[in-house]
Amino acid sequence: MSATDRNRGGTAAIIVAAGRGMRAGGSLPKQYRDLAGLPVLVHTLRAFARHPAVDRLIVVLNPADQALFDERIAPHCDFPLRRVAGGATRGASVRAGLAAADGSARVLIHDGARPLVAQALISEVIAALGENPAAAPALPVTDALWRGTNGRVQAPHPRAGLFRAQTPQGFRLPAILAAHENAPPDAADDVEVALAAGLDVAITEGDENNLKITFPADFRRAEQLMRAEMDIRTGNGFDVHAFAPGDHVTLCGVRIPHERGLAGHSDADVGMHALTDAIYGALAEGDIGRHFPPSDPRWKGAASDIFLLHAIGLAGKRGYRMASCDVTLVCEIPKISPHADTMRARLAEIMRADESRISVKATTSERLGFTGRGEGIAALATATLVRP
Ligand code: MG
Repeated sequence: MSATDRNRGGTAAIIVAAGRGMRAGGSLPKQYRDLAGLPVLVHTLRAFARHPAVDRLIVVLNPADQALFDERIAPHCDFPLRRVAGGATRGASVRAGLAAADGSARVLIHDGARPLVAQALISEVIAALGENPAAAPALPVTDALWRGTNGRVQAPHPRAGLFRAQTPQGFRLPAILAAHENAPPDAADDVEVALAAGLDVAITEGDENNLKITFPADFRRAEQLMRAEMDIRTGNGFDVHAFAPGDHVTLCGVRIPHERGLAGHSDADVGMHALTDAIYGALAEGDIGRHFPPSDPRWKGAASDIFLLHAIGLAGKRGYRMASCDVTLVCEIPKISPHADTMRARLAEIMRADESRISVKATTSERLGFTGRGEGIAALATATLVRP
């Protein structure tokens, strides 16, 4: 097979999330429970959605979980995703996913309850499918093994050549489709199905962090690992608008009656502009001018909400949420403090963030400089974004 043939058809990821998974405790299936602020399944789906070599994403659901998925998962999925109803057994669920992957050259089959899968681990499985019809990550067993019953060790068990299997398990699509036609009814995973069909399965390097969430303690361990790997980004923004004739100013989305207005192409909301630029800065995405060129007449007189919504939407698409932001308005007049809480509430509403994470404060510049002379208003902002 030539390199071109190997790349034809692309790679589909099938996330199997149809299990009931109640051993992890709680009243929800484990893949719907929160892990570091987002459901387990959202973390898992995002890991594959952001992998550059994954072209299609398919999630296999328990038919009884459709409403649960709509409520808890779908609002966080701003990427293409095909939903498939699972069957009565794991094998039937995987087959439903495989049918939906029709046209792909390769498939990766992954447990919905393994949210910490690393990008490099996914890449290695895909790379191994260049030379092999099947490939899956695993870790060699390093602990001594025993057989035991009733709390007593019966005998040591040799560990040489033993591996702990993980997912995603990767296959060339025609090979695994054929294998599933005669699958052993109780196969634990798709490697077992592949082996029963005589397929050669390559072992790629597993990852201790790629744990399968099964028991309540696994949530704590996974959260600790996520905290250790959390991507935290900070950006700053600065903006100035000059006073101009008018009867009000708009600051952080709040209209304040004033003897003058602020000059600008949009509504000249200097505070919201600084905050928007801080978010773009954290994402290394330039500034408002890059996304909304002032030369474009569409933004003339526009409410600055659209800029902030765009920036926070971009953050969300990349998996970041607002950890905190802090806006400082610099002016002698108008007085900001009576409006600061209304501004926080308005920013929280636009960004759909908790108000306790949003700060708005003000200072004068002791009558020095352009703000001190009352020629305009300046604003500084800092935004911290986190991606678990
Ligand atoms: Mg501005």
